[in-house]
Amino acid sequence: MENLTMDKIVNYAKNYGFVFQGSDIYGGLANSWDYGPLGTLLKENIRNAWKKRFVEENRYNYGLDSAIIMNPNVWVASGHVASFADPLIDCLKCKSRYRADKLIEDFTNGEITADGWSNEEIEKYIKDNHLTCPTCKSSEFTPIRKFNLLFETKIGVVDDSKNIVYLRGETAQGIFVNFKNIERAMRAKIPFGVCQTGKAFRNEITPGNFIFRTREFEQMEMEFFCKPGTDLEWFKYWKDYCVNFLHDLGLDDDKLRMRDHAKEELAFYSKATTDIEFLFPMGWGELWGIADRTDYDLGVHEKHSGQDLKYLDPDTHEKYLPYVIEPSVGIDRLLLAILCNSYSNEILEDNTEREVLRIKYALAPYKVNILPLIKKNHSEKAEELFTLLSKHFSTSYDESGSIGKRYRRADAIGTPFCVTIDDETMNNGTVTVRNRDTMAQDVVKIEDLVNYINDKIQF
Ligand code: ATP
Repeated sequence: MENLTMDKIVNYAKNYGFVFQGSDIYGGLANSWDYGPLGTLLKENIRNAWKKRFVEENRYNYGLDSAIIMNPNVWVASGHVASFADPLIDCLKCKSRYRADKLIEDFTNGEITADGWSNEEIEKYIKDNHLTCPTCKSSEFTPIRKFNLLFETKIGVVDDSKNIVYLRGETAQGIFVNFKNIERAMRAKIPFGVCQTGKAFRNEITPGNFIFRTREFEQMEMEFFCKPGTDLEWFKYWKDYCVNFLHDLGLDDDKLRMRDHAKEELAFYSKATTDIEFLFPMGWGELWGIADRTDYDLGVHEKHSGQDLKYLDPDTHEKYLPYVIEPSVGIDRLLLAILCNSYSNEILEDNTEREVLRIKYALAPYKVNILPLIKKNHSEKAEELFTLLSKHFSTSYDESGSIGKRYRRADAIGTPFCVTIDDETMNNGTVTVRNRDTMAQDVVKIEDLVNYINDKIQF
């Protein structure tokens, strides 16, 4: 849709029960969001699609669900305690606080990213290009300071610094520390991947743009362990795999682009990194980061834990630390991309307006909506049908308002099929099935209904 604004999406998400302001009745908590009934269903469908594609349908991969709170040494070893930090800069005049690299990214509409730049390089760019404070337009800034993103908390009953732990800043570390467990328990041979979804926490300096950047979010990550030397081939394999997945989720080609990190932008341990970016209403933004992380992570955990994390190839008897390819995507960002990509406001032939979420059927929160044409005549049969269909797919029931209004409500939340129960149903055992996209109607026998819908909603 042309000119889709973030405000429009935020209002849409709130009005239809996808995403609400967090702690709303207390005036909210800045940048915290709660997923409502439809958001919960959509999120679950995205998570399931990812699990199906990355774990169930890929013969190399396994699943995992590791703890959010881990031994703090994990985060010391991984480097997060020392250097999981963003560059913080304050406007001297109005005191607004910014992430300095994002100031540059916003200034250049995402054309330049300052990932991997030193503080001095960022400060120089801001000065040379006369960047000003987005709030008050002053060009006077403080020097850059590093701000650590890990959330600290404490465990145990004694208020003692020994008990400081961290909320995980990414799900990936839970996978690295389980590498040997999974290899052993699953008799896994290199190459293999481990996938997990779950909450991650970052004390972001500038959360915002709705659910694009929040302090609490959910990631879907895979660490793919492979033999050094084969890593760049696997890097390409997983990049293609991720892009295909996004296409299958229905994201438009012209809203997706790949951005390879230039050499000077790469993290010191990374051999190659590509971001898949999506064109959000506020501009291009990272959706999915894919990185060749070499043997950095297993190497630091081996050193700090004192455990041998090398892999012994049972065929060649070679012993080595595997290299790792990591595709990491946030569900919240992906959900936002899917909403932005699918939402449209159409003018129909009769000049009426129709709000419709043209989301892939497999992702739609409800697959089918049951509508008794006249409540007093048809609701008993409609309830029977609800009981039947809801055993197979997520089903909603709507008996209030004119049939036209009910169709519109279902279109607006992306329900692919509306099933109307009328006198024909009572007399002949058939229902009318209306399609969201074409608005065409089919007459279907009740006994064929499950297959009729099932065939069309598979991912
Ligand atoms: P950014 O540069 O936007 O801060 P990042 O490069 O730090 O992101 P990664 O650490 O690579 O992000 O995290 C992997 C994925 O997790 C991102 O591509 C994004 O989809 C998601 N993600 C990261 N930070 C957030 C956040 N604060 N809120 C929502 N999703 C996030």
